[in-house]
Amino acid sequence: MTSSEIKTLDASHVMQTYGRFDVAIERGEGAKLYSPEGREYVDFTSGIGVNSIGYGNTAWAEAIYAQALKLGHISNLFYTEPYARLAGELTRRSGMANVFFANAGGEANEGLIKLARKYSRDKYGDGRSTILTLRQSFHGRTVTTLAATGQEQFHRHFFPFTEGFKHIPANDIKALEAALGASAAKAASFDGTAALAPEEADGGVCAVMVELIQGEGGVLPLDRKYVTALRRICDERDVLFLADEVQTGIGRTGKLFAYQNYGVMPDAATFAKGIAGGLPMGGVLASEKCASVLGAGDHATTFGGNPIAAAAALEVLSQLSDGALDEVARKGEYIKGAIAGWGLPAVGEIRGMGLMLGVSVAGASLPKELASRCIENGLLILTAGSDALRMLPPLTISYEEIDRGLEILKGVLETA
Ligand SMILES: *Cc1c(COP(=O)(O)O)cnc(C)c1O
Repeated sequence: MTSSEIKTLDASHVMQTYGRFDVAIERGEGAKLYSPEGREYVDFTSGIGVNSIGYGNTAWAEAIYAQALKLGHISNLFYTEPYARLAGELTRRSGMANVFFANAGGEANEGLIKLARKYSRDKYGDGRSTILTLRQSFHGRTVTTLAATGQEQFHRHFFPFTEGFKHIPANDIKALEAALGASAAKAASFDGTAALAPEEADGGVCAVMVELIQGEGGVLPLDRKYVTALRRICDERDVLFLADEVQTGIGRTGKLFAYQNYGVMPDAATFAKGIAGGLPMGGVLASEKCASVLGAGDHATTFGGNPIAAAAALEVLSQLSDGALDEVARKGEYIKGAIAGWGLPAVGEIRGMGLMLGVSVAGASLPKELASRCIENGLLILTAGSDALRMLPPLTISYEEIDRGLEILKGVLETA
């Protein structure tokens, strides 16, 4: 089919929920994509952080094929090797105790929310079920994860939402303490020698859920000081520190998980986008403290940890060795340095870590218009928040592909 035939068929038969770019993609190789007509694009999007090991990755395709021939699916009522091996790899490299496999980010976050509420209820009973999330956050599109998402634009149309979420400003320790309630003053003067008694640690809050770098919100990294304080304050009150690593996880920031860049361990964390290199998979990792909160019958999902997705994820993790992740960090610094070096007036802040980067273009044209112009010129790029272009290239992108993409970006920003 031609691009225009695909678009016509889509327009008549698909719910038009996506503001799509005017491009159809047929195939890819490395970090390059091709339209049905053979037009070449450099890809700085990787399917929004999903195609972590690039396109046409032979070992990945072979792992999927071999597993599909052996066993494509079996219910979670039975054991399978890819599932168990993947759990072993993920816990070893994340420092977590165990994992629950789901299919996507929003679904993983639903599991995280259930885990946090049950942890608190098991220990303290009812009335301690609120989860604090940050303004500008994004946690998913289900009714509950929309409620968790701290952006007003997502809170239209779909009332009533799930109760029990409160949004606080990011990087504001005072606001965090205030939201945690009556014991705020005490926590502020806490000297680290004794834990607060459970009855003091109320405010009805059981957890604080954050993205360490807010993705959809604008590629906004949390301050190191804030994250360290968050860890300490959560410990003092036995409030869970939950990390939504759906976008930041699986090597995106130059470590397997972004919390490893911050030198903290959350109590539980979710992942999804990049884990299986293009197949749907997500999950919840729990620390020792939270590892047995969800027991038999408390949580489940039909496709979670599907053997094909698990085999793909094992191949992704084997290609994302520690050395490969160091390279992700270096490529990120290279891109940041190159863009800063242009000295263009259209370029504001350059934010992010590893290959999760945002360029603020406030004052220049709208990010969406700039992204469209990049695409017309052969570079696929994303936007984030109200002011930024967002780059999430495949983690395996070559320096040659980076240079080609940057050349196109520079051309567009020069005339912005
Ligand atoms: C994409 C994203 C989600 C939602 O993931 P889906 O797979 O689309 O459900 C949740 N949280 C963050 C941080 C994300 O980037």
